[in-house]
Amino acid sequence: KGPDPDIPAITEALRDVQHKILVLSGKGGVGKSTFAAMLGWALSANENQEVAMLDLDFCGPSLARIMGTEGEQIHAAASGWTPVYADDNLAVMSIAYMLPNSDEAVIWRGQKKNGLIKQFLKNVDWGNPIDYMLVDTPPGTSDEHLSINQYMSPSGLDGAVIITTPQEVALLDVRKEIDFCRKAGIRVLGLIENMAGFVCPNCQGKSDIFIPTTGGGKQLAQELNVPFLGSVPLDPRIGQCSDRGENFFEAFPDSVVTTALN
Ligand code: ADP
Repeated sequence: KGPDPDIPAITEALRDVQHKILVLSGKGGVGKSTFAAMLGWALSANENQEVAMLDLDFCGPSLARIMGTEGEQIHAAASGWTPVYADDNLAVMSIAYMLPNSDEAVIWRGQKKNGLIKQFLKNVDWGNPIDYMLVDTPPGTSDEHLSINQYMSPSGLDGAVIITTPQEVALLDVRKEIDFCRKAGIRVLGLIENMAGFVCPNCQGKSDIFIPTTGGGKQLAQELNVPFLGSVPLDPRIGQCSDRGENFFEAFPDSVVTTALN
């Protein structure tokens, strides 16, 4: 099999995208999409930066809701699809904007998913040059991950941020994810431990609930020689914001997470 004939057009379309970052996790439910959304909000807080988000989790496209854009539709113009804007400089592209309703199941084989990934990369009119393109992916290591790596690499893929929780099972899965990145030639930008400790909504105090495993992410990062980027506590306000589609940093400027960011 020769090289994919669509790659030159994809590479051309991504020419004005400065940084491309994948958000990965070994398993579902660890907060990967929530983290992707928070990264998007955080990067776009600088209004000189244009941020684009791509949701490749076609079977569970939760980014649209988390970004407060559920129910919006994309439009097809001569120049390509126009994305949905969560903020002036924060554009989102998801299959969720193409479904007649949010209960609709997407049951697609790899080939069809690859077709849509290519369209997201080739046919979206982002309007401006993009500083950061963040790609939310399905959990685990599947076709979508291989494809996005194959399609983005020729124009420069910065690498992947991997989200895990402190529990052992998630950590086992995250080892596989890191191994996958190594085998596929994707640079691991770092590991993030989510749901590490609990912030009490009453007293705002932080306690470790996954004793003795909290901190496992940091140990694992050291062991596997990947950067440890930090940990985010289990904070009901984070869940609340993602369910309501609100920007956490604006809603809770004084939280430990927001302060850590600043
Ligand atoms: P994934 O993308 O890994 O499947 P999600 O981002 O959808 O996971 O998160 C799973 C659930 O956990 C969501 O309901 C989300 O709001 C919640 N959640 C994620 N991170 C946190 C956190 N740090 N504190 C509280 N709730 C969280």
